[in-house]
Amino acid sequence: MSNADRGKALPKTEQVQTVACALCQSEAQSPFQQREGFQIVRCQDCGLRYVSPRLSTAALDREYNDQQASPTPYYINTSPEDRRTFEDRLGRIEQHTRPAHLLDLGCGPGTMLQVASERGWQAVGVDLNRTSIAHAKSLGLNALAGTFPHPELGDQRFDAITMNDFIEHVPDPVGILSQVRQHLSPGGVAFLTTPDAGSLMARLFGASWLHVKPREHLFYFDRANIRDLCQRAGLEPLWMGAMGRRRNLRVVRERLGEYSSLAGKAAGLMLPTALVRRWHVPINLLDEVGLIARASN
Ligand SMILES: [Zn+2]
Repeated sequence: MSNADRGKALPKTEQVQTVACALCQSEAQSPFQQREGFQIVRCQDCGLRYVSPRLSTAALDREYNDQQASPTPYYINTSPEDRRTFEDRLGRIEQHTRPAHLLDLGCGPGTMLQVASERGWQAVGVDLNRTSIAHAKSLGLNALAGTFPHPELGDQRFDAITMNDFIEHVPDPVGILSQVRQHLSPGGVAFLTTPDAGSLMARLFGASWLHVKPREHLFYFDRANIRDLCQRAGLEPLWMGAMGRRRNLRVVRERLGEYSSLAGKAAGLMLPTALVRRWHVPINLLDEVGLIARASN
């Protein structure tokens, strides 16, 4: 059994649903990859790679709230290095708009909201994971449990709407980005990051690529797909490029172990735990893409 298949039970049939392409609605698809009992297919019309059959919306809600997907403790644990990552990202966003009202979708335990508040933004977040929202609230942050659009937001508009590693998780990315567009202030920008399925890492590692997580990553966008997604949602890209992340060396060591037990052991010998916990390094494997976009006219 490979690392990829370890410890995951196959989903029961009533928990999965077959879906058409979320970009072009085509049902013409060919098999692309398999992992953890799920099939990733490729749309024969627009080239989007997506999971089908995939977990149903109800099953996904359960996965997040049972902490099986995007668990709260993981993101609390990585918050020191995430703070640095989000500082970098907000710096880039602030080249296009002044700090005013910010909405963070998939806000998790609130690290982005915290950093944005410190930089002068009035920030509110939304996340499906109620444990993460409770944590954000305990830090005094404005965070709402549920999905976007959220009734408590009404038709409020924002100068920035941020989505860090979010869009690949949602069942209807075009629908969400169309809503994002409607919630942008004049001159406001949408920001997102997502794994880049067209990157060298993705092509080199295939189904073993770390971002292939078919229970929760429902889509594998390349840059052409992102442009297509924007066009369908009425957004115009202002910037697109490879997006790095600050990582704690301990996490880097664990991730090496996921690729290969030999690499993990070698890294363990070279990077003792007491030392690596304190080090945060900028990592850019060029396998995540970032986008800043505004409403197109
Ligand atoms: Zn398609």
